[in-house]
Amino acid sequence: MTDHKTETPKIGVYICHCGGNISDTIDVKRVAATLAEYPNVEISREYPFMCSDAGQKMVIEDIQAGRNNRVVIAACSPMLHELTFRKTLERADLNPYLYEHVNIREQASWVHKADHEGATDKAIRLARAGVEKILRQDELESIQVDATKHVLVIGGGPAGMKAALDSAGRGLRVTLVEKSDRLGGHLHDLDTVYPSGLKASKILGRLLNKIKATPLITVALNTTVTGWEGFVGNFSATLSDQSVLKAGAVILSTGYDHVIPADGEYEYGKDPRVTTLPQLIEHMKSHAGQPLVWHGKAIKSMAFIHCVGSRQKEGVHAPQADGKVNDYCSRVCCTAALHTINAIQEIQPELNIYDCYRDIRTYGRGHEEIYTKASKNGVVFLRFNEDAPPEIKSASVVVKDVLTWNQEVEVPADLVVLVTGIKQGAVDELVSMMKLPVSADRFLQEAHPKLRPVEVANNGFYLAGNCQAPMDLVESAAAAGAASSKIAALLSKDYIPLDPYVARVDADKCTGCEACLTECSYTGAIFQNPTTRKAEVNAALCKGCGACVAVCEPRALDLAGWSIDQMEAMVDAMAAEV
Ligand SMILES: Cc1cc2nc3c(=O)[nH]c(=O)nc-3n(C[C@H](O)[C@H](O)[C@H](O)COP(=O)(O)OP(=O)(O)OC[C@H]3O[C@@H](n4cnc5c(N)ncnc54)[C@H](O)[C@@H]3O)c2cc1C
Ligand code: SF4
Ligand code: SF4
Ligand code: SF4
Repeated sequence: MTDHKTETPKIGVYICHCGGNISDTIDVKRVAATLAEYPNVEISREYPFMCSDAGQKMVIEDIQAGRNNRVVIAACSPMLHELTFRKTLERADLNPYLYEHVNIREQASWVHKADHEGATDKAIRLARAGVEKILRQDELESIQVDATKHVLVIGGGPAGMKAALDSAGRGLRVTLVEKSDRLGGHLHDLDTVYPSGLKASKILGRLLNKIKATPLITVALNTTVTGWEGFVGNFSATLSDQSVLKAGAVILSTGYDHVIPADGEYEYGKDPRVTTLPQLIEHMKSHAGQPLVWHGKAIKSMAFIHCVGSRQKEGVHAPQADGKVNDYCSRVCCTAALHTINAIQEIQPELNIYDCYRDIRTYGRGHEEIYTKASKNGVVFLRFNEDAPPEIKSASVVVKDVLTWNQEVEVPADLVVLVTGIKQGAVDELVSMMKLPVSADRFLQEAHPKLRPVEVANNGFYLAGNCQAPMDLVESAAAAGAASSKIAALLSKDYIPLDPYVARVDADKCTGCEACLTECSYTGAIFQNPTTRKAEVNAALCKGCGACVAVCEPRALDLAGWSIDQMEAMVDAMAAEV
């Protein structure tokens, strides 16, 4: 790559219209014209879609023609396209860090839709700040860390098994850690599965055979991760029954737990006629092909009640142990309930089945057919409102049916099945050990639901299956496949490039006061050199959060790419008159 260190900075500014997302509110021509007059700006252009091939080509041609050697693009969020334009600069043989992405969409046009003048002024200020920042930017180089070509998969349910197979299929060594004494997770509990109708045991058998036949996979049963350190490419996991395992990346596939109804909810635990869907499935599995008999009584009429322990509302439902309600939809339970109803009707078509639901969410491919089949087979659907849940009586269920204008309908029920949902499994220890982000619903959180759906924000961590959100087998397998293909790309070379935005210490200024060591939340990111007593940074562990910079009185610390000089110049540029 060409060395531009000695060149006079020549900045190219590009203002994107983002279709009309930006230009409908912001006067992009005025922004470009104003920036053209700004010191050190050589060219300033506006264009309908900077991220398009044509937009990127324009940037490359300007750089290659020597018109500019630093770039500011004022467009959408850097979350979306910062990487796109870094690659554009690489293609133009320019250091990719000599580029600043300024967000004039989320930060200007979208939030000031009614104030065109104000939004335009703000876009000018933001773009000028970008210019001042990139003017002071060093030619940073990405940090390179070794890539250990070994994947640790935690959780040996269907998602973890598929993730292990897919990773091994890409030539990576895998250790699959399972805390119980067998692989398979909740697949063991299921009978036939929707949408295929295959026996769960058959699917499990196939997965187990494949794993056995894959020498790259080591299975560690009755094992948990008890210690954790390191960074992407170089993790060290202490396993409960072994010595330390080295891994380049980790897939979390710890699955789910069933929601247990609150004590007395729908008479659960008090009335023996009341059970849960997982318990019914287990019963049907162990009494395959037989008519339903519950506590010695042949069942003639039964009712299902949906959304038990899911889609809860504060003030209506009892909170969970942590004081919160489960306000999310568990997604798999509508289809699982209807699939079970169809299975019952195949054996006992004469059985009366009442399905009491709030909404039917049979969202996946082939799921609607399961709903249609149940309807055609004579299942009676009764829709209730969340504020008026069905009432359990001694031999019946009473529902205020929304479909008949809240008419109270009483249906006979020898058996009541609570369609319980899914909740996060016991992952607290892993969460605190690995500092994993958790969403409000307690599931592990991905970095971005659309742009990075199976990656955790922490480098090197990936998600597969129900530890992230309720998913069926097809979705769990897709997530496992996506996570392993991401890891294959990550570990494809002998090293992993990391962003260079980390803390730097000026040893001449450091007094060894240790204030930064106390402030930093990331183990090992900053430490004291035992000989010189000066602070030093482990670039692979530093997250670039800047907390240490703020407490360093002699200003010995700075963040590469976000230096105090850069920040001060940006603030001045933003404060200056337009
Ligand atoms: C009632 C019901 C019916 C369903 N029916 C269907 C159906 O018919 N079709 C369908 O496609 N899907 C169905 N599902 C969904 C299906 O069960 C899941 O998609 C499937 O089990 C995949 O889950 P998983 O691998 O993410 O998690 P799990 O099956 O929960 O497996 C997680 C594994 O991780 C292990 N583990 C947990 N924590 C740790 C740890 N710290 N260390 C090591 N190991 C750990 C667990 O022991 C377990 O073996 C149903 C779900 C429910 C609730
Ligand atoms: S999938 Fe159906 S039963 Fe389950 S929580 Fe969602 S709406 Fe309720
Ligand atoms: S806070 Fe500053 S001066 Fe004190 S040890 Fe850290 S880098 Fe050195
Ligand atoms: S920037 Fe943040 S993570 Fe890095 S050393 Fe400083 S406090 Fe620690």
